[in-house]
Amino acid sequence: MNKLYCIACPAGCLLSVREFGYDDVEVEGNGCEMGIDFARSETTNPMRTLTTTVRTTFPGVPVFPVRTDGEIPKGKIIEAMVALSKIVVGSELGCGDTVVENIVGSGVRVIATSDALTADSRSAEPIGKNAQFDDVLSIGVYRSEEQLNSSSDDYSEPDAEDEEKESGRPHIRN
Ligand code: SF4
Repeated sequence: MNKLYCIACPAGCLLSVREFGYDDVEVEGNGCEMGIDFARSETTNPMRTLTTTVRTTFPGVPVFPVRTDGEIPKGKIIEAMVALSKIVVGSELGCGDTVVENIVGSGVRVIATSDALTADSRSAEPIGKNAQFDDVLSIGVYRSEEQLNSSSDDYSEPDAEDEEKESGRPHIRN
């Protein structure tokens, strides 16, 4: 008897699954019929929707959110991530536009999930024009244009007092 949580809805029922053969399962603990389908799929051919980001050539939007527009085999997730790590988007895309057709031969598209690469959104991005991928990826936050134009040695994390001044909220000290 295998135990697994159903992820088909937020209830997250704990399923007890007994497998008698391919596609032949007995399920207990499911709150609805979908739990049986989930248990069957999970024990024979688990599938997942992949949500991730790809790089772009646009300095204002160096990474861009994407997802598969359907489920792909769980065993192909790593292969798909490797394929997507080589993708660099170089054209304007809007929500739902195709980034990759037929990812890892699954028959499923990878689509954009943001409008951040449309002309209007890109002009509104707060990041400096001279930002490089490494600038953003290495520090994990957007630097202001002023910080980007100064030497990287000059950059330091804001201390509690700076944050207090900037946010207008008192910093809670322990
Ligand atoms: S078995 Fe039904 S109710 Fe329970 S988590 Fe799955 S989908 Fe939701």
